[in-house]
Amino acid sequence: MNITLVKGDITAQPVDAVVNAANSSLMGGGGVDGAIHRRGGPDILRACRELRAGHYGGGLPTGQAVATTAGLLPARWVIHTVGPVHSAAEDRSHLLASCYRESLRVADELEAATVAFPAISTGIYGWPMDDAARIAVAAVRAAETSVTEVRFVLFDSAAYEVFEARLG
Ligand code: ADP
Repeated sequence: MNITLVKGDITAQPVDAVVNAANSSLMGGGGVDGAIHRRGGPDILRACRELRAGHYGGGLPTGQAVATTAGLLPARWVIHTVGPVHSAAEDRSHLLASCYRESLRVADELEAATVAFPAISTGIYGWPMDDAARIAVAAVRAAETSVTEVRFVLFDSAAYEVFEARLG
């Protein structure tokens, strides 16, 4: 598997699957989630509503992942995963690692070869970028997957440089 880095907007990535840093409600939010729904159009929210009406009536648990259409995005699927809120009191790294592992498991089910990830939990959920990058890179490297390219899409230069250092 190739791990690549891009500085930019995840909604512009022509990949098989784009991972959304969603919240448990699957009903949209700010950050990456807001951008994906804005650019992807109403089909994504419609698919999320169907998930809530079915198997995910209680919401998507933290650390799990589920796929929907990518709507108008230049991708085939959006894989929604719920990162943990960072806590100084409790080590939740296993949940953050699980987001990457479970997203890649769902990608395998879809037979997606290329997958773009944002820096999950580093926005509204408050995870320090360097620690999040360490966990993300380790989880992706350890994953047993048929995915051929994992692309980390970082929104700004600071985040890009942190990931670059971790990959080096
Ligand atoms: P979380 O709730 O998991 O913290 P956020 O969406 O708030 O998720 O932020 C996750 C990371 O994604 C942050 O580092 C943020 O700067 C970045 N981000 C926000 N919008 C985009 C975008 N359109 N493409 C890529 N990364 C983005």
